[in-house]
Amino acid sequence: QPFDMRDGVIWYDGAFVPWADAKVHVLTHALHYASAVFEGERAYGGVIFKMREHNQRLVESARLLDFEIPYTVEEIDRACEETLARQGFSDAYIRPIAWRGSEMMGVSAQHNKIHLAIAVWQWPSYFDPAQRLKGIRLDLAQWRRPDPLTAPSKAKATGLYMICTMSKHAAERKGYADALMLDWRGQVAECTGANIFFVKDGVIHTPTPDCFLDGITRRTVIGLAKARGIEVVERAILPEELSGFEQCFICGTAAEVTPVAEIADWRFTVGDITSTLMNDYMAAVQPSAPKAVAAA
Ligand code: PMP
Repeated sequence: QPFDMRDGVIWYDGAFVPWADAKVHVLTHALHYASAVFEGERAYGGVIFKMREHNQRLVESARLLDFEIPYTVEEIDRACEETLARQGFSDAYIRPIAWRGSEMMGVSAQHNKIHLAIAVWQWPSYFDPAQRLKGIRLDLAQWRRPDPLTAPSKAKATGLYMICTMSKHAAERKGYADALMLDWRGQVAECTGANIFFVKDGVIHTPTPDCFLDGITRRTVIGLAKARGIEVVERAILPEELSGFEQCFICGTAAEVTPVAEIADWRFTVGDITSTLMNDYMAAVQPSAPKAVAAA
């Protein structure tokens, strides 16, 4: 079913509208100039995991793009919860998006209205479930994450996803599930919608998020690993080092914790640390998880 023709309601500028009526005009600034920011959140057992952190990041992403969302984080939290309740799902994906409207056309958008919409749908698995447990296959992307002086790399801004879609398409054409992108310096950065981790000799290594999204799942997984007494090293990682790592996994709200079996010519096993963190993450997201675990 196409995404513009589903059942239910979408929260749109403060009111619920029938799903098919949640539209924008073709002369919307965001469509022409990528003046939009969004979030991806997941609810488990009717509770949105780390909702406050996600909605704070949404407001912060908008500020980085020089616009102010006309709702407080508390109001956005409540709107997300109400939309989830109205859709009637206990496990679901939540997509808030804020964008500049159609009052002015041209690069300048000083007087465009800022809109906010929230859609909720069921998205059980980001990667093919059968492939996911064996470890997915990644290609090395041609496109690189930009220098923070070139783009607002800390914002979850729609414009930054142009290179993600191009990289993901190129990988999919070659039969891969996703692509690993390097940054402008040639260091390992992230996948097109998830952060990346490696394991060697019982130690976790992950790139320092200085020019890409410091994922909320990434921070959760680092906390879970440390709670297990596993050492986590955040540092610059070069592609030449990939041959030395034993395990690899990626993580993100949609992807959760997903093992990686291959990156181009490099091979990894789905090992103990990866399996442990997959299980620990699925336990932490449950509403019944002890506070210390969920806060990790
Ligand atoms: N990097 C990119 C490019 C992403 O789109 C995402 C998903 N939002 C992530 C990393 C992971 O972020 P999070 O764990 O906050 O969902």
